[in-house]
Amino acid sequence: MYNFASIADHNASRYPDKVVLAQGDRRVTNRTFLDRVNALAAGFRDLGIESGDIVAVLLYNHIEFIETVFALNRIGAAFLPLNYRLSPSEWEYILTHSEAAAIVSEREFVAAVNGIAPRRRLLVGAAPLDGWVSYEDLLARHSGASVPVEPVAADHLQRLMYTSGTTARPKGVRITHGNVLFKNLGHIVEFGLTSADTTLVCGPLYHVGGLDLPGLGTLHAGGSLIVLRKFDAREVLDTIEREWPTNVWLAPSMMNALLQLPDTADRDTSSLRFIIGGGEKMPEPLIERILAAFPGTWFSDAYGLTETVSGDTFNDAEHMLAKVGSVGRPVVHTQVRIVDDQGNEVPRGALGEITLSGPKVFAGYWRDPEATARALRDGWFHTGDVGRVDEDGYLYVEDRKKDMIVSGGENIATPEVERVLYEHPDVVEAAVVGIPHERWGEVPKAYVVTKPGSSLDAAGLVEFCRERLAKFKVPAEVHFLDELPRTPSGKVLKRDLRTLPVIA
Ligand code: ATP
Repeated sequence: MYNFASIADHNASRYPDKVVLAQGDRRVTNRTFLDRVNALAAGFRDLGIESGDIVAVLLYNHIEFIETVFALNRIGAAFLPLNYRLSPSEWEYILTHSEAAAIVSEREFVAAVNGIAPRRRLLVGAAPLDGWVSYEDLLARHSGASVPVEPVAADHLQRLMYTSGTTARPKGVRITHGNVLFKNLGHIVEFGLTSADTTLVCGPLYHVGGLDLPGLGTLHAGGSLIVLRKFDAREVLDTIEREWPTNVWLAPSMMNALLQLPDTADRDTSSLRFIIGGGEKMPEPLIERILAAFPGTWFSDAYGLTETVSGDTFNDAEHMLAKVGSVGRPVVHTQVRIVDDQGNEVPRGALGEITLSGPKVFAGYWRDPEATARALRDGWFHTGDVGRVDEDGYLYVEDRKKDMIVSGGENIATPEVERVLYEHPDVVEAAVVGIPHERWGEVPKAYVVTKPGSSLDAAGLVEFCRERLAKFKVPAEVHFLDELPRTPSGKVLKRDLRTLPVIA
């Protein structure tokens, strides 16, 4: 029996006066954190929340988000983070599908969720509202409470997390206390996390990137979190200079936003021991720009999924340059196997589907036995991604299976074409999808965002690609956009690009 939430008790006894959470001017010590978590846990009990219940959390990044996670887990309940950028109908789908027993939210979302949220509602940071219990009032009522940590089995639900819906309708991923323990262990071992570490949380806490890379692992090691309400490139740099975090997770779109600022390379970011990438394919030219802008920092591209609580493989500091483009090797207790369509392991170096096994792998999809049976076969999680492992055991993610282009019988991994597009100095962002072609079946089409004032045209970019790519990989069409369509968590929505009206 083990409960993830007992980390708070451990840290409060080891480092009571140490600041564990910081946001703006606010500082919370381990002792205060544990007191507030205890009071909130008693408050949840008072609202009728029991072990096994699921409570939705619809919040920007706040200290209260982390408190809610620990308070719910403490009493054996699970949290369900809702992506704040979804539409009310998407929230409604998830709230209904999960049968959430209560919701914790804030003023901005009240009007939208009033008609769809469960009856029990907790409001963070505002004067009391009709139908909502004030979070702070609840804490005050239970101040001084001491709620014992409920011992739970390793397969007890820690959270229900819906996938970002990049390729399909979101699925509820059942993440257990055991999954989180081994995820934290993997990240602690990989990065040597200690109580001296501080993670800057600037990605959304509703996503594994923001919460787990390596956020909760840092807390597990006795370290601290600095929480930004939401991502803002300039604020990220200001906070790094002011608060001296030792690590941060930045998805490619966030990284790109930082690199677009004129003074990023002049800022003092020397406190950063490492930057974790990942979430989607990091084009190599982007990695090179990162290394130039953050000299002396270990940039570790990471591969992982919601279904494995993030971070299955990391590129190590020693091979950051030699293996650029690789997402590194698996964390401790995680195995990677590349298989063919029949599920047989392919020879080393050959392309196939990436499958993963180990104690980080989720316990199946919520109320979706068919999707679970498709994803979990013979103890291996089938990721739907295509990749290869080189002779040194380094994983290269080529593409999502669904995004690979087959042109005249040849496979084209779209990131390979995107990498070349990114090499052009005027290109800020690029995405490639397959479009139907009478003769070849499919051909690549590029969607590109250029720097303001650029005079780059389609013919010029096609010519640039011709010099660097095999003929069949050169985009047959190029279309310029002001921005790429993205999921609420910032990933390029290729399915939307495929259905964009055709403009020559
Ligand atoms: P959905 O499952 O609903 O389609 P999603 O796949 O985007 O959404 P996530 O769990 O957020 O859900 O993302 C996992 C996916 O992100 C992986 O399957 C992979 O395609 C991609 N990914 C993550 N990290 C990397 C990386 N470092 N390089 C390439 N791709 C990555």
